[in-house]
Amino acid sequence: MLDGTVADPDQPMIKVEDLGLIRGDGVFETVLVVDGQPRELEPHLNRLVRSAAMLELPEPGLDAWRRAAQRVIDAWTGSPEFALKLVYTRGVEGTGVPTGFALGQEIAERVTQQRANGIAAITLERGIEPGLAERAPWLLLGAKSLSYAVNMAAVREATRRGADEVIFLASDETVLEGPTSTIAVAKDRTLRTPPAQLGILPGTTQHALFRAAERAGWSVKVEPVPVADLFSAEAVLLMSSVRRITRVHTVDGKQLTDSLPLYQDLVALYESEYS
Ligand code: PLP
Repeated sequence: MLDGTVADPDQPMIKVEDLGLIRGDGVFETVLVVDGQPRELEPHLNRLVRSAAMLELPEPGLDAWRRAAQRVIDAWTGSPEFALKLVYTRGVEGTGVPTGFALGQEIAERVTQQRANGIAAITLERGIEPGLAERAPWLLLGAKSLSYAVNMAAVREATRRGADEVIFLASDETVLEGPTSTIAVAKDRTLRTPPAQLGILPGTTQHALFRAAERAGWSVKVEPVPVADLFSAEAVLLMSSVRRITRVHTVDGKQLTDSLPLYQDLVALYESEYS
């Protein structure tokens, strides 16, 4: 827990009236830990602060979060690679005391298989038009809130349609993000990803990849990406802390004419940040 106590996850510890549970009123982060090393921990913590501010939660004390994260890493006895979740809710109504905890979780087999084999994605509309995020901050577009029911429903829709994942589109037919991931396209030694101002989450994995690619002489651009660019790209990437850099090989049932060696180069660039 955020106060430093280590809790047994098999024992109940969250009050049934916790607003994180009842209303999804809270924020979270998922950090990849490999061989005891958390990847991009500070960017994740900064994003936790940003999300909490958007929900007007009390500002998270980062030292306590760093300690809680380290306690989980030290106590972890599972696989060498795992997901470290940081969860911060508004707590029980009327108390004004937020709930905070960190926990470790195994990476799902499906995720590691998708990293190895790539994925088929479908595009789905998200009902976001340009300018909406700035005009309507109460919609919390781009906050990593606990309200992920819509995102999970979109993934079930993909499964119903025989695909693995979703690429959300804005009303102007430009790319937004995946339900739990950032999307980027590669072409002519340039990487492009849509800007967070559209109402999407700024991805820590995307940022790490772009940092490495730029160092290796690539151009990197954060700008709107029309849906047509998915089909002309040399690589379409679906990225998150847990997914790392996953290859999209099919979009809306059409197999992409992407380059596997180029995709592998980009994975190597991303991994070089941590070797
Ligand atoms: N976009 C959304 C909506 C997400 O939920 C996530 C991660 O879960 C991402 C993007 C990717 O973020 P990161 O690379 O920091 O994990």
